[in-house]
Amino acid sequence: MLDFKNNIRVIPDFPQAGISFKDITTLLKDGAAYRAAIDELKALVAHLEIDVIAGPEARGFVVGAPLAYALGVGFVPIRKSGKLPYETIEVGYDLEYGKDTLAMHTDAIKPGQKVLIADDLLATGGTIATSVNLVEQLGGQVVGAAFLIELTALSGRDKLTDIEVVTLLTYE
Ligand code: AMP
Repeated sequence: MLDFKNNIRVIPDFPQAGISFKDITTLLKDGAAYRAAIDELKALVAHLEIDVIAGPEARGFVVGAPLAYALGVGFVPIRKSGKLPYETIEVGYDLEYGKDTLAMHTDAIKPGQKVLIADDLLATGGTIATSVNLVEQLGGQVVGAAFLIELTALSGRDKLTDIEVVTLLTYE
C-alpha cells in the first residue's frame, strides 16, 4: 500500500494559530495517488451495503463523488446554507474553527436508503455528526463514514459510535 502521508502537505497555523492544516491538494493533483486513495477507500467499505454516498462541501465532494463512481452508486451533496436550489433541511454545528450550517435537499435520500458519508478529514466529528443528523432526518440509514484522514487527538470517532468509520491515514 502507498504511504499516503507523503502526499499530504501539513501547514502549521492555518487558517489560524494552533491549527495544523492537512492539505490534500497535493494528493489530488497526483493522479496515481488520488486513484490509489479512492481504490483503497473502496476496498475498506466493500463489505458494507451502500445505496448512496453523501459528502459535505467542498472536500467531501472530491472524496465522495469518485468513491460513488467507483462503487456504482449515487452521490448527494451536503452544502452550506443557501447553496442548494430546491427545498432543504438545515442543521447548525460547531467546527474545529468557527460555526456553520449544513443543508440537504429534502428529496436527496429515499427513506430506508443505506448511506455512506464521505469527507476528506475527521477532526472533532461535528461536520459528520451533522451530516448523519441530516441524512437520518430524511429517513436514510447511515451505515458508515469514510475519510482520507483522521485527527485522532480530537476524538471525532466518539461522536460516531453507531456507524463504521474507515480512514486511510491518522495523525495525532
Ligand atoms: P470536524 O467537523 O471538526 O470533524 O472538521 C472536519 C472538517 O473541517 C473537514 O471537512 C475538514 O475539511 C475540515 N478540517 C478540520 N480540521 C482540519 C485540519 N486540521 N486540516 C484540514 N482540514 C480540516
